[in-house]
Amino acid sequence: MKFVSTGGNAKSDSISEVLLRGAASDGGLYLPDHLPAPDWTELGADGSLADFAGQFLEPFFAGDPLAKALPDICAAAFDAPVPLVTPDPGRPQLQAVELFHGPTGAFKDFGARFLMGCFDRLGDAGHPLTVLAATSGDTGGAVGCAAEGMAAVRAIILFPKGRVSPFQERQLTCWRDPVQALEVEGDFDDCQRLVKAAFADAQLTARHRLTSANSINLGRLLPQATYLAHAAARTFSRFGAKPGFVIPTGNLGHGFAAVLARSMGAPIGPIRLSTNANRTLKDWSASGRYASRPSVATLANAMDVGAPSNFERLAALPNQLHDLTVELVDDAAIKARIRSDFATSGYVWCPHSATAAEAFARLPQDAQAERPWILAATAHPYKFLETVEPLIGRTIDPPPALAAIFDRPTAKRTIANDVPSLADALGSATVAAP
Ligand SMILES: *Cc1c(COP(=O)(O)O)cnc(C)c1O
Repeated sequence: MKFVSTGGNAKSDSISEVLLRGAASDGGLYLPDHLPAPDWTELGADGSLADFAGQFLEPFFAGDPLAKALPDICAAAFDAPVPLVTPDPGRPQLQAVELFHGPTGAFKDFGARFLMGCFDRLGDAGHPLTVLAATSGDTGGAVGCAAEGMAAVRAIILFPKGRVSPFQERQLTCWRDPVQALEVEGDFDDCQRLVKAAFADAQLTARHRLTSANSINLGRLLPQATYLAHAAARTFSRFGAKPGFVIPTGNLGHGFAAVLARSMGAPIGPIRLSTNANRTLKDWSASGRYASRPSVATLANAMDVGAPSNFERLAALPNQLHDLTVELVDDAAIKARIRSDFATSGYVWCPHSATAAEAFARLPQDAQAERPWILAATAHPYKFLETVEPLIGRTIDPPPALAAIFDRPTAKRTIANDVPSLADALGSATVAAP
């Protein structure tokens, strides 16, 4: 398969190149040059997610050096369960697909593990790739965790000193070689600027084979489309009807992934995107005009995005945007939804997933009843216990994977907010012994 840029002026001949580059050379985002149409009678909904993933993703890897390794990459990336649960026993048609049973408790584990698995096969243990990631939250932990123990790729995670929560810091600093956490004397924007400056330095980039794992990388979106397609296929085979999806999104990673899965023939009915108070997508869906805005801070902070990067990808698939609606859910509605669903059913949403629960609740009764629905539950509520515990009036226990993080030793190095300090850290960071 070949890939084209949404910018219209760049092409790539293979997925390996797309993964290593991240963004296309014309500044656009990569999309496949045609939408694969897998044979849905062959794609077993009853088999494991890893087996399904190998088949679903095969067309994207056809003809690429990674094609042979795809089944192994999928087996490692999709080793955590992705259960479909019934949050309210009184409403069996409503399911949540829980995407938070991976090692860092949010769906970003799947994309990070898949992409790092690809990088580990594209790198070389004698001269490894270096993933440079600036992070304010979930992504850095997922990338660090995914890189642990790899030989041909290492991960360097930059985070702003004193600006992440104690649990987040633990999740960024607890991974062994070849992962190194760098605490930068600055804020998150400084971390991003440092990463950009490092990539702009051709010598530094070549010396360390720098690459990125940010959310526009197709290697993170493909696994997201995969587990949504698998959840849809399982639901279709159980209920005999295409489920609707309600998907919390900010940067349009999941939103685009759902549209991609549907456009590849996955049995998905209407797609409803739920956002927090950041209005960009809501305004676009109401007016047809896209205008980015500055982001505003909300309780669903992993979705605090005013200029969704993946919008360009959505806009490039105009024929796939039917039955797509957007619902905006502000902080007051997030809180009310967490409280009331806990009171009715005992189920606990994280603030991001609560936007989906609320967007579903706002559907007319007949639309709710006419088909099965799947809500994407994107993070474990434990990760947001400061918000959630006061709303439900009880403490939340960490799931085993998150509890295990407390038993790990942590390590970090503090660096000044300048490129020479970063270059020095890159030069001295260790690489796992092959
Ligand atoms: C990253 C993240 C999101 C938003 O993902 P999109 O790419 O904007 O779809 C939602 N919930 C959680 C918990 C996240 O970490």
